[in-house]
Amino acid sequence: MAPRPTHTKFIFVTGGVVSSIGKGITAASTAAILEARGLRVTLLKMDPYLNVDPGTMSPFQHGEVFVTDDGAETDLDLGHYERFTTATMARLNSVSSGQIYETVINRERHGEYLGATVQVIPHITDEVKARILKAAEGFDICLVEVGGTVGDIEGLPFLEAIRQMRLEYGAENTAYIHVTYVPFIKTADELKTKPTQHSVNAMREIGIQPDIIVCRSEKPMPPEVKRKISLFCSIPPENVIAAVDAQSVYELPLAFKDEGLDQRLCDQLGIWAREARLADWKRIVEGVKIVDPEVTINVVGKYVDLKESYKSLCEALLHGGIANRVRVRLHFIEAEDLEGDADCDAILYGASGILVPGGFGSRGTEGKIRAIEYARTHNVPFLGICLGLQLATVEFARNVCGMTDANSTEFNPESRHAVVDLLPEQRGVTDKGATMRLGAFQCVLTPDSLAASLYSSAEISERHRHRYEVNNEFIGPLIEKGLIVSGLYTGERAKQAAALPDGRKGLIEIIELPGHPFFIACQFHPEYKSRPRAPHPVFRGFIQAAAAFRQSRKV
Ligand code: GLN
Repeated sequence: MAPRPTHTKFIFVTGGVVSSIGKGITAASTAAILEARGLRVTLLKMDPYLNVDPGTMSPFQHGEVFVTDDGAETDLDLGHYERFTTATMARLNSVSSGQIYETVINRERHGEYLGATVQVIPHITDEVKARILKAAEGFDICLVEVGGTVGDIEGLPFLEAIRQMRLEYGAENTAYIHVTYVPFIKTADELKTKPTQHSVNAMREIGIQPDIIVCRSEKPMPPEVKRKISLFCSIPPENVIAAVDAQSVYELPLAFKDEGLDQRLCDQLGIWAREARLADWKRIVEGVKIVDPEVTINVVGKYVDLKESYKSLCEALLHGGIANRVRVRLHFIEAEDLEGDADCDAILYGASGILVPGGFGSRGTEGKIRAIEYARTHNVPFLGICLGLQLATVEFARNVCGMTDANSTEFNPESRHAVVDLLPEQRGVTDKGATMRLGAFQCVLTPDSLAASLYSSAEISERHRHRYEVNNEFIGPLIEKGLIVSGLYTGERAKQAAALPDGRKGLIEIIELPGHPFFIACQFHPEYKSRPRAPHPVFRGFIQAAAAFRQSRKV
């Protein structure tokens, strides 16, 4: 039996019955209450798909791609992990089958298995365990969420690896939480436990007896339902934890505490820790429940019917609302609906802020440019993110500086005013994934700018995910007409960029318009770093400006 190389205790979170039942939120909320007990907690997501990372997956398929400081493109659950805890996620906190197989096959090609037959057990499972141990180093608790649903063929190697870890480290160092769905059947007026029983049976078939079952349900769970699940699934009734649908996901840490989840885990794992201190979560939940005043933000994007692809963005806006004690209502507008002979005024009027988020591909860009023009000319608070900054630059170049064909070369490679372009060294790169600017980059703020006042700081670090940059060659006339460059990346990559008219050398990270109540756009994604307990300054400021706009206009 392998010795336990760290003092860490492991909590494994699996899911059954159906997908999308909130395993990620369950793992994150469990981490939150354990952290509230003073424990050092980290999390790890294991995804069974064969993609090496979700970077190249369509947002329709996968939802948002979350980006870490060290530039990993990961599953959106890592966003939940960061928002619910104080942990900072990195590349090692997200593992896919693709990565595991890639590592093992590369090792095999290098002859490192010394002629052995390379197999799922032990080679793949050993690599899975090695990744878990690596991520766990230095923490009291490592929560490991296994993606997918029990019964999926793809997830088996991961489940086998976590099964072995119980054998190796014992029940006092490992706990299995199984998240299931307990449907309410209207005609019977009853919550049904059968799917949970089947799902737990499927776990047992592969050798894992869950210690705790978290039951998602629409209705409160009566004691007899818990007793039934306890009996059929062989766990004490107090280990059946109800997770009833709530208005906000941020209620879950409180609900779990009420259900005794943290205590059950601490009992099993022999952890002595103080009571969970959840005062800040209570404040967040109060903040989420504020209904008045309500501030409406027009979010002009693509994929608007799939809000999962803007997960962190929606959360960051919500955090901005909590910080300002207002309710934020998001009005999603399909950018293409603003194109052609659309009546933009009619569509955009009524909201107190306009946001153009990140995006790829040309569909809808002209509509987004119209939304930006509307925000600029009607003094509506505006926040542009990534593509939103690029298009704000295009809009200003076209409509204020007379560069009528201004564009990003992503959308018009022939434009004579390529105000957004690839950096010279990227132009020849054909392997798409390799050319992205990914992860955290430092950014120097211009004194006395809106950006500097929002951040109250001279230098910041934010996360990126894009290929194109504002082209400094064309920025002169825009600055002359009043555009302010208020954030600049001056590191290694910036050496390829031309100097700004004032002699500063760097890549443009933030632009803003003085004289406008709030018009700011950033090349990075501030939403990745917003947490309910630490709302991001840009979103706090944006919602504050929107609330003031609403007050002045009564909209
Ligand atoms: N498509 C743009 C680029 O690649 C913007 C990307 C984004 O908004 N994340 O630079």
